[in-house]
Amino acid sequence: MGYSKTDYEESRILLYYGFAPLEDPQAVMFWQRTLCEMLELKGRILVSKHGINGTVGGSLAACKEYVRRTKAFPAFKGMEFKWSEGGAEDFPRLSVKVRDEIVAFGAPDELEVDDKGVIGGGVHLKPEQLHELMEERGDEVVFFDGRNAMEAQIGKFKDAVIPDVRTTHDFIKEIESGKYDDLKDKPVVTYCTGGIRCEILSSLMKKRGFKEVYQLDGGIVRYGEKFGDKGFWEGSLYVFDRRMHMEFSDDAKVIGRCVHCDQPTNDFRNCLNLQCRKQTLICDDCFNNGEKHYCEQCATQPAATA
Ligand SMILES: [Zn+2]
Ligand SMILES: [Zn+2]
Repeated sequence: MGYSKTDYEESRILLYYGFAPLEDPQAVMFWQRTLCEMLELKGRILVSKHGINGTVGGSLAACKEYVRRTKAFPAFKGMEFKWSEGGAEDFPRLSVKVRDEIVAFGAPDELEVDDKGVIGGGVHLKPEQLHELMEERGDEVVFFDGRNAMEAQIGKFKDAVIPDVRTTHDFIKEIESGKYDDLKDKPVVTYCTGGIRCEILSSLMKKRGFKEVYQLDGGIVRYGEKFGDKGFWEGSLYVFDRRMHMEFSDDAKVIGRCVHCDQPTNDFRNCLNLQCRKQTLICDDCFNNGEKHYCEQCATQPAATA
């Protein structure tokens, strides 16, 4: 490997996904595991017959080599990688697994992919194309949050519809419920953290009669890089690592509210009831000084606070 000294001194995290038909997911899993072990990368990779979804961290040299070798596999040739700060130490271990789905919507047999990606998904909009659509269609456009409802408590697109979902598994039931039938003739823009959930969600929506569906390309992450807090995004972005949330600028609004005192806060904490563990917005004052360590439900049950 022709890498420089800094390539070995610095480290990074890679986030990526690719939808492509994989004839032998098991073989891809073994290849990926061996590759990561050789490069001393840690993280989590899921492989299915529809593609790959991963987050890995390690030295900059290892990350570069990983990208080069992964893209050498024809099915992953066009895959995009997001680079972020961090390294192997941000992950407890390496986990590479084969699953029915790389994102668990509970619809492995409905999803169809070809070498260009998901078949029948929403039209991809780059951040600037989203702004063009907003200029042309204005109030007609509806943002549809493709994440778990909890994530939207601290940040969302302006006036977004927040479906009542605890996990991605709940989406099909939700979009078939009839609650959103009035959106079927409107321009709907789905968005999620990095784009992968909307690849699937937008195709499921189109199959269920939503006629004009778009998906935000690269997700909130790429939109935030481009427009920060000066566009249609409001608040913080929920992230699935130690940081819990991130902001795009110092101007980020705090839209979350403490469940106990209604003060603005972005701090999710696990409910102390071990049977519950629900991630709950609790402000510093309530948590540290008021000893309020439970979610709103458990806090009212005497057994939990005993
Ligand atoms: Zn509070
Ligand atoms: Zn609880």
